[in-house]
Amino acid sequence: MKSYRKELWFEVPARRGFINITPRVRECLEDSGVREGLVLCNAMHITASVFINDDESGLHHDYERWLEKLAPHEPVSQYRHNVGEDNADAHMKRQIMGREVVVAITEGQLDLGTWEQIFYGEFDGRRKKRVLVKIIGE
Ligand code: ZN
Repeated sequence: MKSYRKELWFEVPARRGFINITPRVRECLEDSGVREGLVLCNAMHITASVFINDDESGLHHDYERWLEKLAPHEPVSQYRHNVGEDNADAHMKRQIMGREVVVAITEGQLDLGTWEQIFYGEFDGRRKKRVLVKIIGE
């Protein structure tokens, strides 16, 4: 069995943002040489997500509004976690958007649905953060 590991680094200049990382995961898959197997892709931070959905700007705007309704950033004093920091909302946003995705590899390709794309979701940015890509198979 082949095994491949890579860390992808991101530095989102704003507090929040979504990045389509599908091309970078595809590069990892090509480097791995795996034709049949699985790719795991997970955020290595508790204030960021990896998730799969549509690459459509209206939807991303809707996510932003929805997440701000569920866990508003302000006022930061509403959260008990915010003693010496201000990112309690980011932990909650990460929880609901998820930690990781697993995608099947078939004939050397990511076996995604028609509109499925892999995203990095940042909820407490302006610093360097990592995503792990782990690929196993033959
Ligand atoms: Zn925190």
